[in-house]
Amino acid sequence: MKGTVYKSTGSWYTVKAEDGLFHECRIKGKFRTQGIKSTNPIAVGDQVTFSLENIGDEAVGVISEIGERKNYIIRKSVKLSKQTHIIATNLDQVFLLVTLNNPTTFTSFIDRFLVTAEAYDIPVVLLFNKMDVYDDDETVEVSYLVNLYRQIGYTCLEIAAKEGKNVDQVKNLMIDRTSMFAGHSGVGKSTLVNALEPGLHLKTAEISEQHLQGQHTTTFAEMYDLSFGARIIDTPGIKGFGIVDMEPDEIGDYFPEFFELKSECKFNNCLHMDEPKCAIKEALENNEIAWSRYRSYVQMITGEEDTYRER
Ligand code: GDP
Ligand code: ZN
Repeated sequence: MKGTVYKSTGSWYTVKAEDGLFHECRIKGKFRTQGIKSTNPIAVGDQVTFSLENIGDEAVGVISEIGERKNYIIRKSVKLSKQTHIIATNLDQVFLLVTLNNPTTFTSFIDRFLVTAEAYDIPVVLLFNKMDVYDDDETVEVSYLVNLYRQIGYTCLEIAAKEGKNVDQVKNLMIDRTSMFAGHSGVGKSTLVNALEPGLHLKTAEISEQHLQGQHTTTFAEMYDLSFGARIIDTPGIKGFGIVDMEPDEIGDYFPEFFELKSECKFNNCLHMDEPKCAIKEALENNEIAWSRYRSYVQMITGEEDTYRER
């Protein structure tokens, strides 16, 4: 039988078979993991092959194979000498909730998130939330950011989760897909989930500051079916995506608007910093690339962490 992993506790996996029934499964003996080395061989979102075997009087699922992963997100444990834990796999998209204030989401944070998502090969939809509270200047600021990120190719929506404004548009994007919600604590993730599916309470809401520093490592993700034919993966403690190891010359690959221009730089190993005849710097001077994006890029190259907001 084939199925999808909805929950994992470390030794047991809850698998939803193609007929819609759930089975508690285990892994038999040694199991060969796919690609990345991790503390858990199977994660929520994995496509697995399993069979039902009688152990005592009980039928228990035994997983024999794992399907190829489209993508995955990981968490590295600082405590456990940087061991890698796979949080979830096979995500169709991540919704990043953004608010201008209460809390402030800096463009540096958005860009770092987008770069990581590009590296993970996960599409991001930007949801500018709390549109009901912004004054005229802030509304203009949001439109500016929406334009900026749409031009790069990201889907953007202006919503007000609390009032249900444009929540239907979010729903439309979610149908038949597996999604996840991310964003700073207080941006409205649980309010949005509640507007999408009243009564469903997720762990996403319980992000503590402690958690963001990666203190807890034994939290598990869980997948839920929503009534309108969508799946969401709930992962406590996801603000961003954590660290992905990237070489400096790799970072530019994850800025989609750099992509076409890069080949026109004089040096093919150009880092777009101080090199002469750099097509990225030229595009920047001509306002074809946003300064906020370039600043984020430089920050990522140099490892600086300061925060700023466009305008
Ligand atoms: P989370 O930490 O991301 O899950 O954020 P919550 O959903 O708990 O929301 C944090 C606060 O923002 C709560 O007081 C919500 O009522 C409020 N909030 C969420 N969405 C909106 C919105 O669209 N407009 C306004 N005015 N407040 C919102
Ligand atoms: Zn260059």
